[in-house]
Amino acid sequence: MPTLRARFDVVVIGAGVAGLWTAARLRAQGWSVALLEARALGSGQTIASQGIIHGGVKYALTGKAGRASAMIAPMPEVWRACLENRPGCEIDLSAAKVLSEHQWIWTAGGVGARLAGAAASKVIRARAERVDADDRPAALRAAPRSVGVHRVPEPVLDPATLVEALSRHVGEHVFLIDESTLEPGIGDGGEAVIEVKDTAGAPVELRASRCVLCAGAGAEAVLARLAGRIEHQTPTMQRRPLHMLLARGDLPDLWAHCVGMSAVPRLTITSQREPDGRAVWYIGGGVAETGVERDEQAQIEAGRAALRDALPWLDTSRLEWSALRIDRAEGRTPDGSRPDEPVVGDAGAFIACWPTKLAFAPAVAREVAARLEHDNVPRRAHEGDALDALQRPGVAPLPWREAGRTWR
Ligand SMILES: Cc1cc2nc3c(=O)[nH]c(=O)nc-3n(C[C@H](O)[C@H](O)[C@H](O)COP(=O)(O)OP(=O)(O)OC[C@H]3O[C@@H](n4cnc5c(N)ncnc54)[C@H](O)[C@@H]3O)c2cc1C
Repeated sequence: MPTLRARFDVVVIGAGVAGLWTAARLRAQGWSVALLEARALGSGQTIASQGIIHGGVKYALTGKAGRASAMIAPMPEVWRACLENRPGCEIDLSAAKVLSEHQWIWTAGGVGARLAGAAASKVIRARAERVDADDRPAALRAAPRSVGVHRVPEPVLDPATLVEALSRHVGEHVFLIDESTLEPGIGDGGEAVIEVKDTAGAPVELRASRCVLCAGAGAEAVLARLAGRIEHQTPTMQRRPLHMLLARGDLPDLWAHCVGMSAVPRLTITSQREPDGRAVWYIGGGVAETGVERDEQAQIEAGRAALRDALPWLDTSRLEWSALRIDRAEGRTPDGSRPDEPVVGDAGAFIACWPTKLAFAPAVAREVAARLEHDNVPRRAHEGDALDALQRPGVAPLPWREAGRTWR
């Protein structure tokens, strides 16, 4: 098969939230962009995320994450402008479904004092409002009065419709590739060169002033291949694994953090409805972090126990359960902890990005655009072969709708 050859200003690798947002922004600012995806749009962390557009209240609860909380505080407002397609917003996301305009925080196991202590913080006072019994969500209505329930103005999105809404801005510029064949390199003029095969085995050679790597955990392999071919040191990443839980059945909707004594919420629950009306609760937080050491059966048992403990007033005895292992992929920190902000690193014509949080995707796109402006990367039309023969990826399924998922 003859090699397809094309030149763009920028090639973006990876169509999760970071790659989609970045590609859309760069295109809107006049650069020609090709977006390469190895599986489906959003596959990886984005579709597996809980869709919470954090504004930092969760971090403020720990009482020791002032910088993280301050960095992420403006993000819900940036997203709201896009979700409402307000004039001047960065990108129209009005097609993304907002599952809830706010989320809840409740205290479990007699640790009301913790929230009371945290409530002294300026962040909590400004952004979390304690609600009376009548205003509590259905799942928390029967809780005793000693349980504090707070409303936090951080929206929760359906990740699948978010990916769909973002992809509308890059539609015909995203292509499916076989990642095992991807060879990154640097051309004679210092430009990025990507040699790869499409899913039918056709060779493709792309050249670009910059290649932006938004491949989440997949960035590790691409950077390893690149490392031997460039003089610059390549950026490094870390993985922080999770063992998430899914509970399906007759449940009310809930988007909430259950706060205990630890720095991480004991449970973070988001919910969606299946077409038959059953709810799926997607459960992260402390139980997903500690559950990394447990096998699936033991993790499900731990999930059942955690739910009984945190919501003793709710009948959770007849639910179906499933579990999902997934790594958070982030820029590396010296002690392996979560970075406070997105990490964007350069290596020659390559830029590697890890947003750290879904909420930070617009900040990644802004930073990449700023670097291109700073380096005077010219805006030119795409040259060379059309890539129309390459397949286009569809949107990845939500974790609980994946084919072959088993429920216990
Ligand atoms: C379980 C979980 C829950 C989370 N919940 C939240 C939340 O509620 N709120 C929040 O703000 N953040 C949350 N996060 C963090 C957030 O999901 C991530 O920070 C964000 O989605 C990362 O986006 P990304 O585009 O960098 O990577 P990803 O979403 O992982 O996307 C990477 C993409 O690159 C593709 N790819 C990989 N390698 C290659 C290659 N070689 N060639 C081509 N394509 C490639 C993948 O197929 C994938 O589509 C959560 C994370 C996890 C794991």
